[in-house]
Amino acid sequence: MSKLVRRLVTPFLAVAMAFAFAGTASAVAPGSTAHATIVSDAGDGFATGNLTDAAPPAKGEAKKTKAAWSYHITASCAGMEAPIRQGANFWGEANETPSSGTPVECTGGYVQGCGDATNVVGCNWGQGQRIMLSTMVSDFALLAAHEFGHNWYGHSDPGCANWGSAYEVMRPTMC
Ligand SMILES: [Zn+2]
Repeated sequence: MSKLVRRLVTPFLAVAMAFAFAGTASAVAPGSTAHATIVSDAGDGFATGNLTDAAPPAKGEAKKTKAAWSYHITASCAGMEAPIRQGANFWGEANETPSSGTPVECTGGYVQGCGDATNVVGCNWGQGQRIMLSTMVSDFALLAAHEFGHNWYGHSDPGCANWGSAYEVMRPTMC
């Protein structure tokens, strides 16, 4: 093998091994319904992974008010309450409580333990059992809306998440 070819092949093998390792790691959490939002390697925004089987919102449907649901913001999110409320209220009928409903946690770094994805910046475990948000994203309220949306929905088609509709909020990339 020439030196040049070896230079080209070695990084490829490293990537292939990383994928193989990720595949092995996924076996640790069988049946997990965690949702992962990850930073894209391409540097074009925050790509998301989705481990739920839920369907996306219907394309073009008007945003519907969800049946009453509740959440509480934990101490780790001090100072970030406003954008979290904005994200929750996107879905309507959101009842913020002192200690019941979905606990919302915040981190300034990556979210750990969310399926087998790497560089995770948002996660919804068990469709509303627990949510963690990373302040690394540019539109924190949109990330909050997106993760709350995983209480009911899976991902929409590839593209940048935006506030246009429920379907658009559930796009998999945070740009
Ligand atoms: Zn997502």
